[in-house]
Amino acid sequence: MLNTSVLVLNRSYMPIHVTSVRRAFSLLYQGIARAIDAQYQTFNFEEWSQLAVARDADAIGTPGGLIRIPRVVVLLTFDRLPRRHVRFSRINLMARDNFQCQYCGVKPARQELNLDHVVPRALGGRSTWENVVTSCLACNRKKGGCTPRQAQMKLLSRPQRPRWTPLLNLMLSPRVRYEEWRPFLSIVDASYWNVELVD
Ligand SMILES: [Zn+2]
Repeated sequence: MLNTSVLVLNRSYMPIHVTSVRRAFSLLYQGIARAIDAQYQTFNFEEWSQLAVARDADAIGTPGGLIRIPRVVVLLTFDRLPRRHVRFSRINLMARDNFQCQYCGVKPARQELNLDHVVPRALGGRSTWENVVTSCLACNRKKGGCTPRQAQMKLLSRPQRPRWTPLLNLMLSPRVRYEEWRPFLSIVDASYWNVELVD
């Protein structure tokens, strides 16, 4: 139960991460995050641990009694989760690059995209966030074994390690999803939560 998943929202209620129940409780306990219930009320650890536990609810036993498992927590600050949580994966790379060729800007079908080492491996380029970008097959062929400068191609932007697991990855995640996550994961609702409010 402690290793099942909890959705983490940033301060603007955007889903940014999936973590374990264990870590979610640690975030709550340290005052870094608050738990959210089905009515979108938020609770600190103390308040949450005093909530009644319904018979069919997921809960963990503690010396102080049963505590309900939160399925969504919201961070109180932006900067408290370490960066190493973002997996260096194909999907995360492509999501970071918006499924767009980072040389010519096209957005082809997924099978027409691949990953390009900016500085080719043969020239000592490494497989890192800073040296791998999404590219289309045509640009990949054109670039061949050259650096962008040698091939006279320019990157749209300098590749960087993303701060968070891109949202799309959460939506595609094969991991267990919970009913409680749904309002925060759908595009419509995400824009509802993230729209800039004006008077
Ligand atoms: Zn291209």
